[in-house]
Amino acid sequence: VDAGNRQGDLMAEPPQVTKPLWLSASKIDTFQNCSALYSAKYLWRLPDPSNDGARRGSAVHDVLEILLRPRHRRIYDAAIEAGTCQKVPALWRVVERKARKYQVADDENIEMIDAFIMVALKHEFHGPKGTTEIVGEKPFEISVNMGGKRYNVRGKIDRTATVKDKTGVVIWVRDYKSSKEKFKGEKLTYNIQSLMYQLALRHLYPQIKRRNFDFLFVKFPREPIQTQPSFTDLELDGFEWILTELQSSMESFTMDNALDNAAAGDPERGWLCGKEGKKKNGQPNWICGMRLPRDYWVLLEGGEIQESWDNEPAITPKPGQTLEKRYYSGCPAHFNSRGQRRNFS
Ligand code: SF4
Repeated sequence: VDAGNRQGDLMAEPPQVTKPLWLSASKIDTFQNCSALYSAKYLWRLPDPSNDGARRGSAVHDVLEILLRPRHRRIYDAAIEAGTCQKVPALWRVVERKARKYQVADDENIEMIDAFIMVALKHEFHGPKGTTEIVGEKPFEISVNMGGKRYNVRGKIDRTATVKDKTGVVIWVRDYKSSKEKFKGEKLTYNIQSLMYQLALRHLYPQIKRRNFDFLFVKFPREPIQTQPSFTDLELDGFEWILTELQSSMESFTMDNALDNAAAGDPERGWLCGKEGKKKNGQPNWICGMRLPRDYWVLLEGGEIQESWDNEPAITPKPGQTLEKRYYSGCPAHFNSRGQRRNFS
């Protein structure tokens, strides 16, 4: 353990990328939203200090995946009848276990988790009428290098239903969101995740030409569903060219590009930085998790970061692995390489 390794200048030694770069919807989103955030998360692999909201979302996702298994149908029925997970002991044990795993097991958080799960369960949880098969967390991994198109994408689809209706078979995909806002503006019609998942469906189910996609926002019990447009093959072909461009740009991205498209100071995206300081009630304001300088820990193998943590993890590295303490000097848009605040910050 090199506890004394405080890298005063993070931009001095960009890591070597040796593995193929896999794109995901969230990676592309970060890349397009803020170059500094992208470099911190994906080049330096800083741990994302997730907040209660993100951890609640992870607990909800885990429980929904378990409940979707056919053998748990009775538990689902019991929860629907009771109107809460709390009155179904077998289910509540799982909810509590997942809440503890993500450190959101206090009364307030666990009540919210219960309510969010119920929103998902009450809205065609096992697929629309005519569903013949339902799969949770369906993984996809697509690598294309043909006819000028070149990209690697992967992800996991929360819920995939195969549905038979009067006109044939349709694949119906749902993604659960625990964000505090629904999509608006361009993201209602041009949403990278929706495009990517529909492209994945074309690869996974080439014989099925009809694809539907919706988001279910668990924080909006009255109207949780936002249906996305179904993209035609021609539109998905066009998206493949966009992915090809993104693949090249993201592969050639280095720490030197960290400030190329940073959100700080941008009139549209500046809010992503958050605001340092406290609210009137004394609680800290929300700020970007990569804004402030901090120490972090990485597990290295063959010179590559395998995992990272905010605090020293209680693990013993295997032979060939090393645990190293590092220093992040803060977002380069707000701090210089010695972790000193820039004047305008
Ligand atoms: S603080 Fe702002 S500019 Fe810096 S990484 Fe976060 S969003 Fe990007």
